[in-house]
Amino acid sequence: MNSTTTSTTTAPRTKVSTFVDDFMAQVEERNPHELEFHQAVREVVSSLVVVLQKHPEYKKARILDRMIEPERVIQFRVPWMSDNGEVNVNRGIRVEFSSAIGPYKGGLRFHPSVNLSILKFLGFEQVFKNSLTTLPIGGGKGGSNFDPKGKSDNEVMRFCQSFMSELYRHIGPNTDVPAGDIGVGGREIGYLFGQYKRLSNEFTGAITGKGFNWGGSRIRPEATGYGVVYFAAAMLETRGESLEGKACLVSGAGNVAQYAVEKITELGGKAITLSDTSGCIHDPDGISPEKLKWVMNLKNKRRGRIEEYVEQFPTAEFTGADPTLQTNPLWAINADCAFPCATQNEINEKDAEHLLANGVYLVTEGANMPTTPEAVDLLLDARTLYGPGKAANAGGVAVSALEMAQNSMRLTWSREEVDQRLQEIMRSIHTACAEAAETYGTPGNYMNGANIAGFCKVADAMLDQGLV
Ligand code: GLU
Repeated sequence: MNSTTTSTTTAPRTKVSTFVDDFMAQVEERNPHELEFHQAVREVVSSLVVVLQKHPEYKKARILDRMIEPERVIQFRVPWMSDNGEVNVNRGIRVEFSSAIGPYKGGLRFHPSVNLSILKFLGFEQVFKNSLTTLPIGGGKGGSNFDPKGKSDNEVMRFCQSFMSELYRHIGPNTDVPAGDIGVGGREIGYLFGQYKRLSNEFTGAITGKGFNWGGSRIRPEATGYGVVYFAAAMLETRGESLEGKACLVSGAGNVAQYAVEKITELGGKAITLSDTSGCIHDPDGISPEKLKWVMNLKNKRRGRIEEYVEQFPTAEFTGADPTLQTNPLWAINADCAFPCATQNEINEKDAEHLLANGVYLVTEGANMPTTPEAVDLLLDARTLYGPGKAANAGGVAVSALEMAQNSMRLTWSREEVDQRLQEIMRSIHTACAEAAETYGTPGNYMNGANIAGFCKVADAMLDQGLV
């Protein structure tokens, strides 16, 4: 036994901890230095102990051991030239994690922090998230350590073309369907799709998040942010409440944060913060639709920093990012709800203490794994309405799957139709999580519910398809 548990509770609990610790010891040995991947796997495995006890068939077929091993990982060189003639080399990766219930599906992230661990954690989460959407999509993720920040449009185009010159042979509408993520928005998707089409000599839905005039879906840009807020509304409903009048903290200022703010306001709430790498703004009057429009222009067109907000709207306050601080001041502002929409591990234990001390009782994740395990424990112990990213932010990939469906039919649905479907999907994800949590003895724990419901569908498909 390689248990490091210090638990002094009853026998079953010790047994549970031992199983997780033993399993994780193997995962860590096999995947050294992949801390984010370890974190994502540990969370899921901890939720699944009760499922494996009830279902020896999963254990016998070693479903969990198979699920933590990506079906395929592709790594490639991405050389490209800067405007001034300098040669650059980045690394491209695509993790094709699981095709048990459909073609690999998941975004591409372009950010200097990207490495195999980050993409494996994201790909692993994507498998469960995609399973929860009710749609037939497997899980994958990819990207590069390329930083689009400060690059010209031409440099971004050359990078995207070089990236796709290798990736195109591995993807396709029935094989693997990439989309956007951090650093990959409409501009990058356009360049990637253009090169894919040129090399494959086919106009297919091999990428989602496309422009509406060339195969994209209505509501895809809005879908992740809207879906997060629909999920939060469904959680509040279980307590007979709504977003009406609620003060909401939102982190990030990109695609997810922008449309979360839009939907919070539409449902009667007040979004009072945003952030980027320069720091965060606090606008006690609320980020109105007019102010949001200004932010969208700042971030999506001018590609400027959020600190400019306070010059434009002087009632707001800006706090510069301070890497020496152990906490993010954004999470220490009085509010009712929090929507982390920036990146992984952006709420640590101290931040969670601040949230709880300042009145927050709902945390719904727009980003992937934005809350550290210690912080999640605190939130769950305080009976916070905690909506994990793999459930709450699944609206983005769900509408990507609707884009795939429209591409296959060569039809487009109206805004109303897509939004209606999105709302239904978010509601059924909420129900699936709540029911699984209840069935397996932890009512109200959406993290367990999401992991269990997401797992069972994939596990059953794997049993049906034999040892592949
Ligand atoms: N990157 C998004 C996510 O984390 C969307 C992926 C997609 O649309 O395929 O789910």
